[in-house]
Amino acid sequence: MTEFLNNLFFIFQRLSWLSVLDIMLVTLIFFGLLYSLRDTQAMALLRGMIMLIVALILLTSLVELPAFSWFTQNSLPALFLALPVIFAPEIRRALERIGRAGSIWPVTAKSTDLALEETIHAIVSATARLSARQHGALIIMQRLDNLDEYIQSGVQLSAKVTPELLLQIFYPNTPLHDGGVIIVNSKVVSAASVLPLSASGVLNRTPERQMGLRHRAALGTSEVSDAIAIVVSEETGSISIAHAGRMLRRLDSDRLENILLAFLRPSAREQQLNIFERLLPGLFGRKEE
Ligand code: ATP
Ligand code: MG
Repeated sequence: MTEFLNNLFFIFQRLSWLSVLDIMLVTLIFFGLLYSLRDTQAMALLRGMIMLIVALILLTSLVELPAFSWFTQNSLPALFLALPVIFAPEIRRALERIGRAGSIWPVTAKSTDLALEETIHAIVSATARLSARQHGALIIMQRLDNLDEYIQSGVQLSAKVTPELLLQIFYPNTPLHDGGVIIVNSKVVSAASVLPLSASGVLNRTPERQMGLRHRAALGTSEVSDAIAIVVSEETGSISIAHAGRMLRRLDSDRLENILLAFLRPSAREQQLNIFERLLPGLFGRKEE
């Protein structure tokens, strides 16, 4: 015990400001990494890998197994080589965010503000009518994160957002009604897009376990990007919004409009967006609900 205390004392004696900073930097990186990964599929993967490594280390250090420890010692580095392959999408997204964080001044001309408000009005008016008719719909509004991959998966368009267009697209049994509509810069750029389904346990923890594929696709898109997803349920006509891995359900038109304006109006938000918020949108975007 005294030896342990002595060791501890020895370590503290050698601690300088620089080493405190050193430790804090590493802690910050791990914190950021784990925080941005929580509730995602990558987190489950990471947990699995850590458990595997700990189990292997315990097994090889507790029991004398020369052949087995030779094998694990040689195969663990291979596992690290596999990391960039396994986490390729997450790494790409993080690098994209870091790249974007460099551009401190987002373009926020008055005209884009106006176009945005018009788009939001069109979406709110369309969702109210879709909800009344109980026509299912899924509308994604791209923000900073690129959604090209999902735009490519659908039918590409370039059309001004109007309530009539959205009503037409989501009219049951028409060629474009299946899948999601993606809106970029106040333009509908694709319809019938296939979006990523949510892998998180959030849906299983909520009382609404019956949430179907449309809602899972909305939540999934909000998990892999900073986009906002609006869903109209075909079964109940209810309107929901997904953002940063969270879903706000049973909204009326007024609340929908207020939430969209709060999320999307550049003057209200993007300008205040600091560098950390851009790097870790999940960290700051999860407080609503
Ligand atoms: P609703 O309340 O409208 O029934 P739901 O959440 O219960 O919604 P489903 O009934 O499973 O969802 O809805 C199926 C529809 O969701 C499909 O017809 C399709 O249009 C859409 N959909 C399913 N998977 C995806 C996906 N990966 N990307 C985009 N749209 C999808
Ligand atoms: Mg359903």
